[in-house]
Amino acid sequence: MSRRRSVPGPQPVLVPVAGRGWFPGMMCGICCEFIRPWQPYNIDHEVPMSRGGRRGKINKQYAHQLCNSVKGDRYPFSLRTPEEREAVRALVQPATYCKLQRVWAGG
Ligand SMILES: [Zn+2]
Repeated sequence: MSRRRSVPGPQPVLVPVAGRGWFPGMMCGICCEFIRPWQPYNIDHEVPMSRGGRRGKINKQYAHQLCNSVKGDRYPFSLRTPEEREAVRALVQPATYCKLQRVWAGG
Protein backbone atom coordinates (compact mmCIF):
# COMPACT_ATOMS: atom_id res chain seq x y z
CA MET A 1 0.00 0.00 0.00
CA SER A 2 1.32 3.37 -0.88
CA ARG A 3 -1.08 6.06 0.15
CA ARG A 4 -0.15 9.54 1.18
CA ARG A 5 -2.50 11.23 3.58
CA SER A 6 -1.80 14.65 2.11
CA VAL A 7 -3.36 13.62 -1.21
CA PRO A 8 -7.14 14.16 -1.06
CA GLY A 9 -7.85 11.83 -4.00
CA PRO A 10 -11.21 10.45 -5.09
CA GLN A 11 -13.65 9.06 -2.57
CA PRO A 12 -14.22 5.31 -2.35
CA VAL A 13 -17.39 4.19 -4.13
CA LEU A 14 -19.98 1.59 -3.17
CA VAL A 15 -19.39 -1.63 -5.02
CA PRO A 16 -21.67 -4.66 -5.21
CA VAL A 17 -20.59 -7.93 -3.61
CA ALA A 18 -22.43 -10.87 -5.17
CA GLY A 19 -25.55 -11.64 -3.18
CA ARG A 20 -24.49 -9.60 -0.14
CA GLY A 21 -25.41 -6.03 -1.03
CA TRP A 22 -23.24 -2.99 -1.42
CA PHE A 23 -19.98 -2.38 0.35
CA PRO A 24 -17.48 0.46 0.29
CA GLY A 25 -14.75 -0.31 -2.16
CA MET A 26 -12.62 1.20 -4.85
CA MET A 27 -12.64 0.83 -8.57
CA CYS A 28 -9.54 0.95 -10.73
CA GLY A 29 -9.82 3.87 -13.13
CA ILE A 30 -7.70 2.10 -15.72
CA CYS A 31 -9.14 -1.42 -16.00
CA CYS A 32 -12.53 -0.61 -14.36
CA GLU A 33 -12.34 -3.55 -11.99
CA PHE A 34 -12.53 -3.51 -8.20
CA ILE A 35 -9.43 -3.01 -6.13
CA ARG A 36 -9.54 -5.76 -3.53
CA PRO A 37 -8.25 -4.93 -0.05
CA TRP A 38 -5.15 -7.05 -0.60
CA GLN A 39 -4.25 -5.58 -3.96
CA PRO A 40 -1.65 -2.80 -4.06
CA TYR A 41 -2.94 0.41 -5.56
CA ASN A 42 -1.87 3.93 -6.39
CA ILE A 43 -3.59 7.22 -6.86
CA ASP A 44 -3.14 7.78 -10.56
CA HIS A 45 -3.40 10.99 -12.54
CA GLU A 46 -5.76 10.25 -15.40
CA VAL A 47 -3.97 12.83 -17.52
CA PRO A 48 -0.31 12.39 -16.57
CA MET A 49 1.39 15.43 -15.05
CA SER A 50 4.04 15.15 -17.77
CA ARG A 51 1.28 15.75 -20.33
CA GLY A 52 -0.16 18.81 -18.68
CA GLY A 53 -2.50 17.04 -16.22
CA ARG A 54 -3.89 19.08 -13.34
CA ARG A 55 -3.09 18.48 -9.69
CA GLY A 56 -6.71 18.64 -8.57
CA LYS A 57 -9.06 15.91 -7.42
CA ILE A 58 -10.82 15.82 -10.77
CA ASN A 59 -7.72 14.35 -12.40
CA LYS A 60 -7.16 11.69 -9.75
CA GLN A 61 -8.35 8.12 -9.72
CA TYR A 62 -7.53 4.94 -7.89
CA ALA A 63 -5.65 2.39 -9.94
CA HIS A 64 -4.06 -0.99 -9.37
CA GLN A 65 -0.33 -0.53 -8.99
CA LEU A 66 0.19 -2.90 -11.92
CA CYS A 67 -2.30 -1.14 -14.18
CA ASN A 68 -0.68 2.15 -13.27
CA SER A 69 2.79 0.86 -14.09
CA VAL A 70 1.60 -0.46 -17.44
CA LYS A 71 -0.12 2.83 -18.24
CA GLY A 72 3.03 4.86 -17.54
CA ASP A 73 2.62 8.33 -19.01
CA ARG A 74 0.54 7.25 -21.98
CA TYR A 75 -2.71 9.10 -22.45
CA PRO A 76 -5.38 8.28 -23.40
CA PHE A 77 -4.95 4.75 -22.17
CA SER A 78 -7.31 2.11 -20.89
CA LEU A 79 -7.57 -1.63 -20.39
CA ARG A 80 -11.32 -1.74 -20.50
CA THR A 81 -11.87 -4.15 -23.36
CA PRO A 82 -10.37 -7.57 -24.13
CA GLU A 83 -8.80 -6.02 -27.25
CA GLU A 84 -7.00 -3.41 -25.15
CA ARG A 85 -5.82 -6.08 -22.76
CA GLU A 86 -4.46 -8.09 -25.65
CA ALA A 87 -2.63 -5.00 -26.86
CA VAL A 88 -0.98 -4.74 -23.45
CA ARG A 89 0.43 -8.22 -23.87
CA ALA A 90 2.80 -6.80 -26.49
CA LEU A 91 3.93 -4.00 -24.16
CA VAL A 92 5.00 -5.90 -21.06
CA GLN A 93 7.10 -8.87 -19.99
CA PRO A 94 5.23 -12.19 -19.89
CA ALA A 95 5.65 -12.34 -16.07
CA THR A 96 4.09 -8.88 -15.68
CA TYR A 97 1.25 -9.86 -17.97
CA CYS A 98 0.57 -12.96 -15.85
CA LYS A 99 0.42 -10.74 -12.74
CA LEU A 100 -1.94 -8.36 -14.51
CA GLN A 101 -4.24 -11.18 -15.44
CA ARG A 102 -4.39 -12.18 -11.76
CA VAL A 103 -5.23 -8.58 -10.83
CA TRP A 104 -8.00 -8.47 -13.42
CA ALA A 105 -9.32 -11.80 -12.16
CA GLY A 106 -9.46 -10.41 -8.63
CA GLY A 107 -6.82 -12.65 -7.10
ZN1 LIG B 1 -6.72 -2.07 -12.70
